[in-house]
Amino acid sequence: MHEMGIAQNILEIALEAAKREGATKISRIDLVAGELRGLVPMQMTFCFGIVAQNTIASSAYLNIEETPVTAHCDDCSADFKVEEYKYLCPKCSSAKVQVTGGSELRVKDIEIE
Ligand SMILES: [Zn+2]
Repeated sequence: MHEMGIAQNILEIALEAAKREGATKISRIDLVAGELRGLVPMQMTFCFGIVAQNTIASSAYLNIEETPVTAHCDDCSADFKVEEYKYLCPKCSSAKVQVTGGSELRVKDIEIE
């Protein structure tokens, strides 16, 4: 389950940020995850609950914001959203497209007390 490793990473980032702020508790973590990451929010929440045990983030709510897959067309320079894994330009139907977004994974914000 790759969610466990990701949850561990997120926890470390959040704890580090909380430490800098001198926080005693993390109440919420806003996570941005690209659709290509294929994260299952329920599994993420579950794994996070395990890795965060006995830390100041143990009762933090994990808010996952999924970002769409985006691509750029090499033929007509259009930028578009890829839906249902159709890697074709919606403007000119070209298949010469480059994926430009959808694989990001970062902690956007944390709420501390
Ligand atoms: Zn195009």
